[in-house]
Amino acid sequence: MSQDNQTIIDKTVDLTFETYKAQSVILDHGEGVYAYDTDGKKYLDFAAGIAVASLGHAHPKMLEVINEQAGKLMACQGSYVTEPKLEAAQILVDNGCFDKVFFSNSGTESVECALKMARKWAYDNKGEQATEIIAFRNSFHGRTYGSASVTEKRLSQAFFEPYIPDVHFADFNDFDGIEDLFSEKTAAVIIEPVQGEGGLNPASPCFLRHLRNLCDRPKVALIFDDVQCGSGRVGTFYAYQSFSCCNLNSCNNGKSPVYKEMKLIEPDIACLAKGMGSGFPVGAVVAKKQFADAMVIGTHGTTYGGNPLACAVVACVLGEIAQPEFLEHVQEMGALLRGELQKIKEKSNKITDISGLGLMLGFESVVPVKEMIGALHKNGLMTTQSGASLVRLTPPLIITKDEIMEAVSIIDKTLHQDF
Ligand code: PLP
Repeated sequence: MSQDNQTIIDKTVDLTFETYKAQSVILDHGEGVYAYDTDGKKYLDFAAGIAVASLGHAHPKMLEVINEQAGKLMACQGSYVTEPKLEAAQILVDNGCFDKVFFSNSGTESVECALKMARKWAYDNKGEQATEIIAFRNSFHGRTYGSASVTEKRLSQAFFEPYIPDVHFADFNDFDGIEDLFSEKTAAVIIEPVQGEGGLNPASPCFLRHLRNLCDRPKVALIFDDVQCGSGRVGTFYAYQSFSCCNLNSCNNGKSPVYKEMKLIEPDIACLAKGMGSGFPVGAVVAKKQFADAMVIGTHGTTYGGNPLACAVVACVLGEIAQPEFLEHVQEMGALLRGELQKIKEKSNKITDISGLGLMLGFESVVPVKEMIGALHKNGLMTTQSGASLVRLTPPLIITKDEIMEAVSIIDKTLHQDF
């Protein structure tokens, strides 16, 4: 790296909060699935801003929409209706089981809105004692106080106490004991259908069905956090559309009714961000009518949420993702990537575990995770870490077969170098 670059990095680190450890290169621009640093080095971007750049970098349609809308109207007070807001909301409602949308600016804000909505709905419908929220171990829901309060990491960050009260953590995918956490005080359950930061753990469909059943009697709001795994990332528009369950007898000790048909497990509320903006900062909460209706005038708001520019981008990005052939492509590319990782695992035993769903995959290898990520980066593949030991692969959803094979060959080569 040139002396100039090192000076820029050092100065930036001096001037900004060190909440992240700075990378050793400066990123300059991106095109499609590739990102380039200021020295001109090219990377296959399998980080994509952590599952953000769903349409890749500098997508021509997105650039056109941003330019056009920025020149037309970028900001207006939230009480104004605009055509992009209607268009974006229509796509979110037309492609799932939800009736209404609230636009936010990030994942954590979507989670805040969802928690407030569930608590308000519970207050109105169950009484003021219904304040409790059930969340899961290894969860991640964000870094503001509400979302941090339902994130398991809070248990090791006592310096931020007090968090919001009445949150109980349950083991993910564990039928035992979860029922005991439910009472007339329970307002909501929040779960990531595929855990992102805490290891790439898909929920078991039968566990989600069990949760749905528990939430149905007496009614408790079931919130799916789709921030990372939604917006097409796992091959369906919403993550819940990837989970269907049939006969429960075989997997939860017969505690719940038997379902003979495969049925999707619908949440009441879902939180979105990341991939829905493909790099543009935006989020949304979608909810069934009775929950959305709890949020009356004055209960919530945002200066930027739902601004015309963000909504125009959302309409463009989600308009692409919602196409059946786009989602089929994600499923196909996810299967290809998993299959190729599996081949390396079988051939060399250097990959020890593969996890995740769709194009939200991770692998564990014989190389310590941080060293592996550093070596992949040097070899031209950008990745991120998930959980304690996984290399996470979340490429743009537009990735092609050839680009996947290029990434796989970098992974294979890296696993065989000396550490
Ligand atoms: N929820 C999940 C599942 C996430 O993965 C994240 C971010 O990684 C968030 C919420 C928070 O999103 P943001 O960083 O946009 O606030």
